[in-house]
Amino acid sequence: MEHSHGAHRADDIEDARIKDLTERFRQTLSTKRMNELVSRSVSRASSPAPRDFGTPQPPPSVSDAQLPTYSSLRNIPLVPQAPQDARSLRFKNMLHSLSNMPIRWENPGLLDEALRVVPLEQIYNEAEEESQILQAEAESLGAGKKAAWGYQDCVVRALLRWFKRSFFTWVNNPACSRCYSPTIGVGMAAPLPDEQARGANQVELYKCSVEQCGAYERYPRYNDAFVLLQTRRGRCGEWANCFSMLCRAVGSRVRWVWNAEDHVWTEVYSVHRKRWVHVDACEEAWDKPRLYTEGWGKKLSYCIAFSADGAMDVTRRYVRNVSKHAVERNRAPEAVLLHIMDEIRAMRRSNMSKQDKFRLEGEDMRENRELRSCVISSIAHEVSKLSVEDIMNGRSSRSRADPDTQKALEGRTSGNSEWIRARGEGGRGQPNPQDPRNRQR
Ligand SMILES: [Zn+2]
Repeated sequence: MEHSHGAHRADDIEDARIKDLTERFRQTLSTKRMNELVSRSVSRASSPAPRDFGTPQPPPSVSDAQLPTYSSLRNIPLVPQAPQDARSLRFKNMLHSLSNMPIRWENPGLLDEALRVVPLEQIYNEAEEESQILQAEAESLGAGKKAAWGYQDCVVRALLRWFKRSFFTWVNNPACSRCYSPTIGVGMAAPLPDEQARGANQVELYKCSVEQCGAYERYPRYNDAFVLLQTRRGRCGEWANCFSMLCRAVGSRVRWVWNAEDHVWTEVYSVHRKRWVHVDACEEAWDKPRLYTEGWGKKLSYCIAFSADGAMDVTRRYVRNVSKHAVERNRAPEAVLLHIMDEIRAMRRSNMSKQDKFRLEGEDMRENRELRSCVISSIAHEVSKLSVEDIMNGRSSRSRADPDTQKALEGRTSGNSEWIRARGEGGRGQPNPQDPRNRQR
């Protein structure tokens, strides 16, 4: 914190008080996390995690195995089925491997260390202020009204603003570090030992666009959240990884959401609202799950959320209008996907107490109801837009302005306009040429 030379003693005392509070807060968080981890690892040590690969079953009928369906989106009850064919097994292996991402953040020492780069005073002050405003707004609406968001939600919102506005930088092509000119992508390079040591398995290579310079610029794709605290740059993969880890560091339960169409984002559990909230650090977006479909104009097949204690197919939260924004889900039959999700959940919870498992199962059921209602209200909305003439003429629906979706009808803001156009994420009706260079997450 900066002060002029003639700072009052009162300011110094205030400073000391804030520092003391911050330190105490750090300690409390750290102790709490350590206790959680110790109790978890104790129970883990006492019972080795059995991996359930499912009981062998007769091969699925042709219709089950080959028909791509949206039945999970449309809520047709299915009986989970173990993967049998090669394609389903590949999908299973991929999802298992993706599900490890949030586990890498569960390191109390590193999380404590991570908090040292975060301006906690600023974030807690902003959160305090915002939550008081929300509380006052709720009270002005009448007795018994609940604030829109709770204090911890406001902490994550403040963290989100800081992360996007002052901490992390978006990288398309890294600038030339010799002359600061733009660079041109020339392909991939093998990682150097130190890059590999810091967790980069891929390195993109760029060449300076100024002929006399011609310097090469390396862009290692680090996927260790703690390394990203130092590099502080990247595309959505790096953003979501580092930001989600920081949400965990400030004490929130967090999910890492993988999307099959080349995007990743965060979900944070709001204790106040008793639900998972969509957060996209690249876009500074809070609770705007329609952003990708109604905003960027994308079609999505799978959106799968992974946390340290579970896994959930959350596609229905992001694809409200199945006929408009869903794409074929053909990586495995829906019953197999259910099985894989059950399997990952069981693995994550294998060493938990009965009460914890029960609590999480209750949470899953509540979320399933919420996801079903997403689709139902969207269908109801479509139906309400039908007029008698539409039905007589066999038209499905008229496009009428829907105030609820207008909010989300904005194109992408992270990345430059050329890159956004190439990905077809510029908003309504943009073509998507699927440039393979832009397929990097
Ligand atoms: Zn240069």
